[in-house]
Amino acid sequence: MAAGLAGSVQIRHVDAGSCNGCEVEIGSAFGPVHDAERYGARLVASPRHADALVVTGPVTRNMAEPLRRTYEAVPGPKVVVAVGDCARNCGVFAGAYGVVGSVAEVVPVDVEIAGCPPRPEAIVAGLRTLTGR
Ligand code: SF4
Repeated sequence: MAAGLAGSVQIRHVDAGSCNGCEVEIGSAFGPVHDAERYGARLVASPRHADALVVTGPVTRNMAEPLRRTYEAVPGPKVVVAVGDCARNCGVFAGAYGVVGSVAEVVPVDVEIAGCPPRPEAIVAGLRTLTGR
């Protein structure tokens, strides 16, 4: 569990260049069936209100600087969760002309959730490592 996040975690989601498949599964993870909020994970609209970033997709050239600035806007202690194989290692977009690299090549990553896309159960399990619930 990341320091200072025990019990609940406020999350700002950043799509750094996803195909949107990971977003569908994140939506399901926070939907009525999987309901990540019951474990203390909550999506918020501003990085200034967040403890954590959930980042999807390979980082595209247009999103590298916004991702860095969003990371800087999150007050510490903060964690970054790379959701999906594209976020972890660029996945199917590796080597594409518009891709800068994986999320960890732009901001520090604390937790990785594998899959293309990850199942909602895997996303909830990953977020529970932050909340400890
Ligand atoms: S990991 Fe798969 S589903 Fe997620 S953004 Fe990449 S290609 Fe899309």
